[in-house]
Amino acid sequence: MRIKRALKTEMDLENSLARPKTRLQRVRAYEKEIDKIYKKINILQERCNHKNTLRKPKSNTGNWDPNDDRYWWEIDCMDCKKHWQEDQ
Ligand SMILES: [Zn+2]
Repeated sequence: MRIKRALKTEMDLENSLARPKTRLQRVRAYEKEIDKIYKKINILQERCNHKNTLRKPKSNTGNWDPNDDRYWWEIDCMDCKKHWQEDQ
């Protein structure tokens, strides 16, 4: 087992030497990983029924044109961390 691991480490080292990555390539690789993780989070949030939410009333009033006044809710789901707004 230890030999296998040592061999793998050696192979990884050789691979990394054979294909040296630039800083930009590494950053792009990490961005791809982040993207994948966000997609996973989105799937979990889409499948959540958001039964456990915190709703905070918000307003923007006193505008010169009262038609611009707005009342809305800031909503956070405690189960999946999704955040969104809804008009009141
Ligand atoms: Zn949710």
